[in-house]
Amino acid sequence: MSLQGEARFNRRAVKVAEAQRRVLEAVQPLPPETAALWRCGGRYLAQSCEATVDWPPFARAGMDGYAVHAADTAQATAEQPAVLRVTGTVAAGQVYAGTVQPGTAVRIMTGAAVPAGADAVVMLEQTAEAAEPGPRSVLVKAPALPGQNVAPRGEEFRRGAVIARPGTRLGPGHIAHLGTFGYAELQVHRRPRVAIFATGTELLPVGAPLEPGRIRDSNSAMIAALVESCGGEALPLGRLADDPAAVSLALEAALDEADAVITTGGVSVGDYDVMAVIMRKLRGGASNRADAVMPEAAAHGLLFDKVAMRPGSPTSAAMVNGKPLWALSGNPGACHVGFELFVRPALRRMQGSSSPLHRTVNARLGASVGKGSPHDRYVRAVLGERDGRWTADLLAFNKSSMMASLPEANALVRIPAGPAGAEAGAEVSVLLLGPLHE
Ligand code: AMP
Ligand code: MG
Repeated sequence: MSLQGEARFNRRAVKVAEAQRRVLEAVQPLPPETAALWRCGGRYLAQSCEATVDWPPFARAGMDGYAVHAADTAQATAEQPAVLRVTGTVAAGQVYAGTVQPGTAVRIMTGAAVPAGADAVVMLEQTAEAAEPGPRSVLVKAPALPGQNVAPRGEEFRRGAVIARPGTRLGPGHIAHLGTFGYAELQVHRRPRVAIFATGTELLPVGAPLEPGRIRDSNSAMIAALVESCGGEALPLGRLADDPAAVSLALEAALDEADAVITTGGVSVGDYDVMAVIMRKLRGGASNRADAVMPEAAAHGLLFDKVAMRPGSPTSAAMVNGKPLWALSGNPGACHVGFELFVRPALRRMQGSSSPLHRTVNARLGASVGKGSPHDRYVRAVLGERDGRWTADLLAFNKSSMMASLPEANALVRIPAGPAGAEAGAEVSVLLLGPLHE
């Protein structure tokens, strides 16, 4: 097949939101699997979980001190303390066999079940040992209110209450709840295995010395890190020269192995842009092997091969045998934006996420953007607080071919299309990257 000219044909740009919609509609959650609770941080729940007991399961002491009848201490002061006979001790994990009678107290430790009869715990610091001879007594130097320092049974959760729903991304807090309620294992969606290729005859492995005219493949490792950052399992499969036959073969093998494939480079309209050629072949939904297998339209075919955005307008995506294939730009900046906008949400959806798109916030622009653009621009930025307001400062070295601003960026600012850029102080929509985005 001739590469010349073929890739240039008729690529019609779709809007970012439409491209995202197409990808999210095409992919499906992967099947659930069982995982140990402690391994479930960051995974997406594939079951509903409920409180299996009231929580706390018994009235629990919140302090070290004495379990008492509050009424016995109503008049207590430092000068005229209430004197209560101590009838026993209860530590965390123990249950006091008797009942606390009026005029008595039980020494109690934090986390222990408050004995029957008692309705308050006086903290140790508000008591003193009575010096008198005879049975052991305690002096209570301040009045206790009923319920003081006691967490009543069921205060936080009632048995049967839903504590996590399918599609929830499990954080350490969920893990704590689920541990409390006895979920030693959970059903979570399988992590997508994502094959990664870098195309480009100029590319060297990261470990190789530079050669004239060549550069190292930094995209593969960046994409692998991005994949892992949203719960996927990265399978970096190396570099491919700009040869359509070889790239096709490698993609077919990868699509058999993995749940999704990401390529970088070769997707624009250059003479050697192999991914553009391959995507064009998929456009009609025609591909030798997929035709026979795929009944559903969404299971096979091009989703988009041009997006109305900067950078990364040639970013493309297709479904092959029911699996997503993303062809991201080779330019590291554009590659990064393409991943964030079109891959991350889909990988979340493949894990069952109930809210796969990024969170966005409105912020004011730190400085003017002079240049207009025919398409929305996604500019790497640092979002922070200034004068009590969220402010987005665009980073320098923001061209799609540049990578200097990649590490610092914690946000992508959307500068709407228009003849002029945007004024300093203008309100802009900001897509959160990194930990804030969940
Ligand atoms: P392409 O999209 O293939 O035309 O590549 C655009 C630019 O990105 C070129 O300057 C490439 O050398 C560079 N590039 C392509 N692939 C990579 C990669 N894997 N790592 C770093 N830079 C790349
Ligand atoms: Mg290239």
